[in-house]
Order: sequence, then C-alpha cells, then structure tokens
Amino acid sequence: MATYFKEEWLNDSLFEKWLVIGSDKKSAKCKICQVEFNLSNMGRRAVISHMDGKKHVHKSKPVSCFFMPAQSTSKKQAILIVDQCDKSCAEICSVLHAVQNNFSLNSCNENGLLYQKMFPDSKTAKSYEMGRTKLGYVINFGIGPYFHRLLTKNI
Ligand SMILES: [Zn+2]
Repeated sequence: MATYFKEEWLNDSLFEKWLVIGSDKKSAKCKICQVEFNLSNMGRRAVISHMDGKKHVHKSKPVSCFFMPAQSTSKKQAILIVDQCDKSCAEICSVLHAVQNNFSLNSCNENGLLYQKMFPDSKTAKSYEMGRTKLGYVINFGIGPYFHRLLTKNI
C-alpha cells in the first residue's frame, strides 16, 4: 500500500526547516540535499530515514567557529574550533586566520596555490579558492556582520 505526503509534516519541528512536498504526492523533497525521495510504503519513516542519513546529517551540520581569548597572555589569542572541514570551512578558517593576524589581502592572494602544492592529495586543498577580492568580500559581508550580530546579541 502506497503512502502519501502529509501536510502536517510541514509543521513538524523535525522536518519544517528542510522538507517540502515532492513532484507528486508519493514523494518528498529535501531543501538541504536538493533531492527528492519516494515515500513508497514507509511514509513518515521514509522522511525520518532521509533525515538520519549520512549525507543529510553532514549537509545540515552548521559550521561552528568560536573565538576564545586566552587568559594567560595580554595579547588576545584565539582558539579556533571547527566541526566541519570541507571547502567552505577551510575558506572560513583561512579568513579568520587572516583577520586574527592582520594579514593584508594581497599576502593571502596565492594561498590556494600554496595549499595545493603542500597537500596534493587533498580534495579540500584542490577546491580551495580564496583570492584577495573574495577574502575582502567575505570579511566585509560575511564574517564581519556575523561577529557584529553575535556581539550585539550579547549586549
Ligand atoms: Zn536532506
């Protein structure tokens, strides 16, 4: 017996952020993974199965980075904790490192080539793209506003 997509799933706190109805009533679509899957005979269990799948869990994982000032030194140092090390995370880490150490945008311009030479077997290094223009853009319109919001939220 086939099962159908239920509207009530759209309001379920487990699914509301990523689940939408598929191209027909017998399928559902994940906004995070950009895949449509058949509900077949499983219904809600098919949705839960997708949600617990390795790919979905990996894609829904937020990149969490925290700066923690060291107390033993007068100069602020930071410890970067990173959960997910894919291309985006590597690029974000690189931006944070550049900001933390006051590197000029030009001094980071060739980092992609350097990382590819240093880590030839790394897929992340191969896909790393961060020239001075993108670096400036990420600082001014990505990381900067993020930390500004974080700071003002705690005041
Ligand atoms: Zn998914």
